[in-house]
Amino acid sequence: MASPSDLSKIPIQYVKGVGPKRAPLLEKLGVRTVEDALWCIPWRYDNRLEILPIRSVVPGTKVTVRGIVESCRVAVTSRRRLVLITLVVRDETGVLECLFFNQPFLKNTFTPGVLVLLTGVATLQSRHGSKLMMKAPFYELLDGQEGEQEVGRIVPIYHETHGVSSKQIRRIMQGVLEQYRHQLIDVVPFSVRRSLGLPSLAEALPALHWPSLDAPVGLLNAHETAEHRRLAFEELLLLQLALAMRRKHAEQSSAGIPFPQHNPLVARFRKALPFSLTTAQERVIREISQDMSQPTAMNRLLQGDVGCGKTIVAFYAMVNACGAGYQAVLMAPTEILSEQHYASLLPHCENLGLSCHLVKGGISGWEREESLGRLQSGVARIIVGTHALLQPDVQFQKLGLVIVDEQHKFGVLQRARLREKAAWEPDVLVMTATPIPRTLAMTLYGDLDMSVIDQFPPGKKPVETKLFMRSQRKAAYGLIEKELEAGRQAYVVYPLVEPSEKVDLQAAVDGAAQLQPFFPNCRIGVLHGRLPSRDKERVMGDFRQHHIDILVATTVVEVGLDVQNATVMLIEHAERFGLAQLHQLRGRVGRGQQQGFCLLLHALGKLEGTGLQVPLSLEASRLSSSEMGTWPTSIPEVTRSMARQRLLVFAQCADGFALAEEDLKIRGSGQVLGVQQWGELKFRVADLARDGTLFMKAKEVARDLLDRDPELLEPEHHALREKLFLQWGDKFSLGVVG
Ligand code: ADP
Ligand code: MG
Repeated sequence: MASPSDLSKIPIQYVKGVGPKRAPLLEKLGVRTVEDALWCIPWRYDNRLEILPIRSVVPGTKVTVRGIVESCRVAVTSRRRLVLITLVVRDETGVLECLFFNQPFLKNTFTPGVLVLLTGVATLQSRHGSKLMMKAPFYELLDGQEGEQEVGRIVPIYHETHGVSSKQIRRIMQGVLEQYRHQLIDVVPFSVRRSLGLPSLAEALPALHWPSLDAPVGLLNAHETAEHRRLAFEELLLLQLALAMRRKHAEQSSAGIPFPQHNPLVARFRKALPFSLTTAQERVIREISQDMSQPTAMNRLLQGDVGCGKTIVAFYAMVNACGAGYQAVLMAPTEILSEQHYASLLPHCENLGLSCHLVKGGISGWEREESLGRLQSGVARIIVGTHALLQPDVQFQKLGLVIVDEQHKFGVLQRARLREKAAWEPDVLVMTATPIPRTLAMTLYGDLDMSVIDQFPPGKKPVETKLFMRSQRKAAYGLIEKELEAGRQAYVVYPLVEPSEKVDLQAAVDGAAQLQPFFPNCRIGVLHGRLPSRDKERVMGDFRQHHIDILVATTVVEVGLDVQNATVMLIEHAERFGLAQLHQLRGRVGRGQQQGFCLLLHALGKLEGTGLQVPLSLEASRLSSSEMGTWPTSIPEVTRSMARQRLLVFAQCADGFALAEEDLKIRGSGQVLGVQQWGELKFRVADLARDGTLFMKAKEVARDLLDRDPELLEPEHHALREKLFLQWGDKFSLGVVG
């Protein structure tokens, strides 16, 4: 019998027009199989129903014209070193001039005599004798043999990849559709589709890839169509089903530990506290203590902005576990962080007579054996480490509690692996300082209960944030100097230009060299991802002990670094960071009693206006990360002004959650914390920022379906179940396909 997985087994290479040469290129778009191709839908449409003769173009309206390239000139402006490409195109009725910016390679694209299709808004340039001109139009080369496929209709536009144009993708898609449309199997039950008014897969896909001539113009906003919603809904439904099933399995299978609500160790912990807890900390401790006393395993997420005091709450939970005779583990995403946690827990542990043990990465032989022996024998009660703790030879004597810091750096999978290290279900507490918008939190942590510390310890002042243009660098340095003179320390942070460690290294090293002449008497240290962990440790230690005044770093200071004497942070190329990430960075200063400062250097020109409204066009919201990477040379004006707004919002807002919501709105869910961190939950069509309502609908439907058919074993749910396990079975440990 045909199954919904069939099309996902046919490599894209075997589709007509692809072959071994193009297949790797398509893979860059995430297209590996026929099914991937079908789900790789256009990001917008071009209305080419009407191609206008150049003479009839009305200035100020969006039009499509077709003409022959007459000339293409490249020039560099003297003032802003902008590369200008001037293209002249002619048809039988007139001449049109087009301007492109900073894309010198276009010279090779627009060779004279080539037939080209241009879509954009033309304006009349009266300065040069009423010339008709288009700025940065959308273009496509024609070969004169398109017939009715490329013009005279609504044409889908796909994301391009180096070496495969939208036009080629269009042709491949047509072939795929023709060849495979009769094999499409709809996994969304008919009754569900009918009640939501959604078309079938076999109706939706062709309509999206190849809209008919009489398609309503509203289709130009693809995501508003029922067809688009149909695809998004399927993705959201599968995820909601997976979350619901996982939650149910966890509830059924858990043989948790009912920790007693009170033990003498906890009482001693309270007595030894150097400060009184905030109301929020007390509330969260109550929630945790309540969970831990239950016979089912705790599964709780602890959210709280940087500096709100999560560590002591985590320590409370560990003490609670140790007091009942169990071991507790704290896992952090980096060596630096785990060392820092260890250093801050150690004095507390010594106070209470608990043995605390750090499991380091990169050790071997007897050293490792000895280290692991302490966990296995139970000598170590509180254990701190990185994902090295997940290795199979790491065994515990009596593991009762697992705390995971900065969960978003780990996958759902890894969390499950650590949990499996106990003979029973240990309690799990996940901590994060990365404010996660509600919609995303529900997706990622749909199976977790949530606690929030929404209050800072008394006396904590918000970090003062200031914006500087690059030409004002000296003014920013002046502020750093003032802090250094008062005996404080500074961070200078560089973005990762590319996800390449080599570039990372270079940025930091160059940055340090650039600083030295301005701060001749200062000790400058460099910290970047490429340093071996021993050296990182040394640099961190030096900074902590104030043997270093200025620490130049790439984003490794993003999480957790805690040096109270560091009061000022300068962020280079601030426009390249997401708001949530900037907020994380900002949290590194102002941790002690002193006022903290965050200085943002940007390449956006003068920042004006204070309105917090961010105007968005569909195009702008779809900016891909690669486009972000090419800043600042080729930022379209709309993006530039958006980026300005973002930085203004950031400077005025100290609330990490509000910033995260803003980020979600502006950049879409994939971008909030960097695509790679959410990689496990990447959708092909759905977008949590946009499809929130649909997502809630999917939750309702998932619940209904599972109420009626808990394991989805009815024949009409067969295909749904198969696709569910195919997609999420491994990731959510849903068991084997029955
Ligand atoms: P984060 O939530 O970022 O992990 P920490 O736990 O590192 O925050 O706490 C930040 C600082 O505030 C630490 O120096 C900690 O000792 C201090 N702190 C935590 N709770 C309180 C409190 N209730 N009163 C005063 N200081 C506190
Ligand atoms: Mg912390």
